[in-house]
Amino acid sequence: SRIPRIVILGAGYGGIVTAIRLQKQLNYNEADVTLVNKHDYHYITTHLHMPAAGTDNPENARVEISKLIDEFKVDFVKSTVLQIKPQEKKIILEDSTLSYDYLVIGLGGEPETFGIPGLLEYSLNIRSINSVRFIREHIEYQFARFKKEPTRKDYLTFVVGGAGFTGIEFLGELADRIPRLCREFDVNPELVQIINVEAAPTALPGFDPELVEYAMGVLKDKGVTFKIATAIKECTPDGVILATGEVIKAATVIWTGGIRGNRMLEEAGLETSRGRVVVDSFLRTKEYENIYVIGDCSIVLNDQGRPYPPTAQIAMQQADVCAHNLIAAIRNSSPREFKFSNKGTVASLGRGEAIGIVGKYKIKGYSAAMMKKLIDMRYLYIIGGIPLVLKKGRF
Ligand code: FAD
Repeated sequence: SRIPRIVILGAGYGGIVTAIRLQKQLNYNEADVTLVNKHDYHYITTHLHMPAAGTDNPENARVEISKLIDEFKVDFVKSTVLQIKPQEKKIILEDSTLSYDYLVIGLGGEPETFGIPGLLEYSLNIRSINSVRFIREHIEYQFARFKKEPTRKDYLTFVVGGAGFTGIEFLGELADRIPRLCREFDVNPELVQIINVEAAPTALPGFDPELVEYAMGVLKDKGVTFKIATAIKECTPDGVILATGEVIKAATVIWTGGIRGNRMLEEAGLETSRGRVVVDSFLRTKEYENIYVIGDCSIVLNDQGRPYPPTAQIAMQQADVCAHNLIAAIRNSSPREFKFSNKGTVASLGRGEAIGIVGKYKIKGYSAAMMKKLIDMRYLYIIGGIPLVLKKGRF
């Protein structure tokens, strides 16, 4: 009989870990595995706030896919997915077509703008190597522009929309970077404004209030101004207009206020909520039992029926179960149910500072920053072993 064909879309946390697990666990000629990704590198999304602010090199946030997969066991196709056709079991790529027996969708998310006018057009998003290189250059360029037009204080005003994990981590790095840029461009640091705008009643909604207060304290000391419980009403080419009527003139608006699933899922006719597919306990879609969805474009509900936040942590745990279940489907053995096991959360606040909850412990300051490094290194170890830890780990 024909060898079953598994296609994995996206080499993010979910996709790359699924591919690595499959290449380890499948026997010779048991399945054909193809991994498709837009770029020939995997990016370590959880690092991206650093190169975006310019506190680290973008090179440190990416790894060549050929270094992670065994090309005798997994076919890598560098291409952009244009369309998923579940009824025909086909994937339309920009330059070819693939057919599959089993499909894994790990295409990640897209910025959620909640319909706020202008955000899509005028704000920047931290989402890929290309986008963070752009943000880094853009920030530097504002300093250069200011030296030419010293009345334009809006060049030195940086608005970050959203105080979730991404927003808070980026603020920490940006606040670290600004003093260095001020020195480099001979700019008075007092002219620079970093403003965070968050619509929810608190920063890091749902996180431990004591740690949230600590985080805000650290960031305020570094020069961040918070406007919490304040919604952005509109983003314009000149800055943002808040629901309070206040107008902030800013040449830089970075939007981190939310993500939704990749649009291709709804276009494929799958039932979605904000672009994300609610999967069954085996991580399959309701409509097709040969399609698995993992990572930021899936939704897993907790015991209270509420979705878990999309994180790298859950994407990797899903990848383990997804790989197991693909093999079980091929071997006719029993699949495993997915249960999220929260190992904790640590958010960095810039150099040497972080907050987090690990197990039942609250951590902050230097020890939390060390924990963050450990978590990063553990990930490098999982995907690339010791060589990758030595190459990309920041000690
Ligand atoms: P992604 O990692 O987004 O990967 C999707 C992949 O699909 C990408 O490689 C992309 O190039 C590819 N792709 C997309 N569209 C196409 C297409 N049309 N064709 C081909 N390929 C395509 N989570 C944590 O758990 N801990 C953290 O500390 C943490 N920190 C974060 C910090 C920042 C700054 C950000 C932005 C996120 C952070 N997250 C963190 C969240 C975490 O990064 C995401 O939840 C995780 O990346 C989701 O993994 P994924 O596999 O679903 O998608």
